[in-house]
Amino acid sequence: MSSVYPSKSTPPTDAPEIVEFDNYVAHTLKATKPLPPMRWSNLVNELNWLSTAILTIVPAMSILGFLTTKLRWETALFAVFYYYVTGLGITAGYHRLWAHRSYNASKPLQYFLAMAGAGAVEGSIKWWSRGHRAHHRYTDTELDPYNAGEGLWWSHVGWMLLKPRRKPGVADVSDLSKNEIIRWQHRHYLTLILSMGIGVPTVIPWLFWGDLRGGFFYAGFARLMFVHHSTFCVNSLAHWLGEAPFDDKHTPRDHVITALATIGEGYHNFHHQFPMDYRNAIKWYQYDPTKWFIWVCYQLGLASHLKVFPDNEVRKGQLTMQLKRLRETQDQLAWPSDNNDLPVISYESFVEQSAKRPLILVAGFIHDITNFIEEHPGGPHYLVKYVGKDATTAFFGGVYDHSNAAHNLLAMKRVGVLHGGLPTGLQEKAIPPSQRLKVARYAELSATSANSSGGSEHDGEKESSPPPA
Ligand SMILES: [Zn+2]
Ligand SMILES: [Zn+2]
Repeated sequence: MSSVYPSKSTPPTDAPEIVEFDNYVAHTLKATKPLPPMRWSNLVNELNWLSTAILTIVPAMSILGFLTTKLRWETALFAVFYYYVTGLGITAGYHRLWAHRSYNASKPLQYFLAMAGAGAVEGSIKWWSRGHRAHHRYTDTELDPYNAGEGLWWSHVGWMLLKPRRKPGVADVSDLSKNEIIRWQHRHYLTLILSMGIGVPTVIPWLFWGDLRGGFFYAGFARLMFVHHSTFCVNSLAHWLGEAPFDDKHTPRDHVITALATIGEGYHNFHHQFPMDYRNAIKWYQYDPTKWFIWVCYQLGLASHLKVFPDNEVRKGQLTMQLKRLRETQDQLAWPSDNNDLPVISYESFVEQSAKRPLILVAGFIHDITNFIEEHPGGPHYLVKYVGKDATTAFFGGVYDHSNAAHNLLAMKRVGVLHGGLPTGLQEKAIPPSQRLKVARYAELSATSANSSGGSEHDGEKESSPPPA
């Protein structure tokens, strides 16, 4: 995985040798100066005029169209269709094929995607993929060209309106430089965006149902505006809205609304964890038309080598996040006192103290039931009968086989550990059911195993001494 795809853990091969800093991002940020922050007084110099022009003219023309041109249903349907064609050029082509190499595409498919992608007017394949690889490699840092940490507006369009504040982090695109179709697109880029962006969507409605004006405004400009903001949502919305079911180290999130807005790129938490996977959505019912398109191309023999990350590893990520949430719940609950926090009390002392307050012995623990006698569902008299006595057998079925909930509640009333501990064979009963399966951190696990192999004085005593008569 790391040999093919850039990841933050592997330092870039073309990076300067790192001596002082063990982190490439920190090193680069220290070694290079950013452009000064944008100021109103300096706006003319700081604006990226080409992008700003495109991103204002397109919506302005769309509004002009809405105000002046009747929308015919044929043109409306075609505009939606063409939105998907050019959108897939970006999602299936620019993104999943070229930026991530998540499958292999035949030449006819590559030409189709290169042309369709040009119709989305989002820059050439090489420029787009270079920025996107930096985005994955340096996610949420200043070397990420659309760093989500700079806010929703910045990651959506701000980063294109202004000159880049920094050069995006190093990302290898040598494979793309060698691709003849990418070079062909680069050479004819202007012709391609004019023909695929405006020409084709104008001419088709004109030739087939005589709607030149509608084609120009709706299938051309309005459709382009939607494709633009659909792609931009992957950088903004997908790093802001939703859940992190696979990993929460960075901002990418999964959400069906983002998926609907982006032709299936909305399962972005999954995508950032497994960027070489040709899918964004792994469940059949989740909305990922880009995945379906690639799969259909595969069935038609136009695509091959569709990459899928091992399911076992995907599920590990999911389990980790589930355990994290369970641990939070576990930490919010009150638990019985730990063995080591409780005083060790002799059997004689237990009997003696029971004369002053209601104490009962169950499974090696002494419990104070002062506030519980009246609430005991079986009636107070059963409890009173066992004050000052070992009620282990009675509790576990001798009189009544108590529920797990009853055992959990009983454990909350612990006030001491009996000196000498439990009779052998009953150790399991000392652990309340709610504590037999727990979420433990690695450090806690190793501490436990060290304890159990070495054994504290306290534990040793309990194990070696015979049970009280
Ligand atoms: Zn992202
Ligand atoms: Zn990506």
